[in-house]
Amino acid sequence: MSQKYTCNVCGRSFPEGQGIIIEISSNKLYFHSKSCAYKFLKEIIMEADTDCINSSLKKVKKKYDEILEHLSEKAEKKI
Ligand SMILES: [Zn+2]
Repeated sequence: MSQKYTCNVCGRSFPEGQGIIIEISSNKLYFHSKSCAYKFLKEIIMEADTDCINSSLKKVKKKYDEILEHLSEKAEKKI
């Protein structure tokens, strides 16, 4: 028996295992596709206080910067 969810952005229903489900501080958000998730999450970011976002933004960006740095180091070693 598979459960059905309803997309929070466009209202389309999708079965369990498909789509994107994100839980933010006990709020469950359901998106049938990446584009709906992107639309919703982008609006949250635009609505949010920049001071609140800044530290998270820096943290996440730093994480990916380090991953990218690591990847380019690996690529250099191959040559
Ligand atoms: Zn949708």
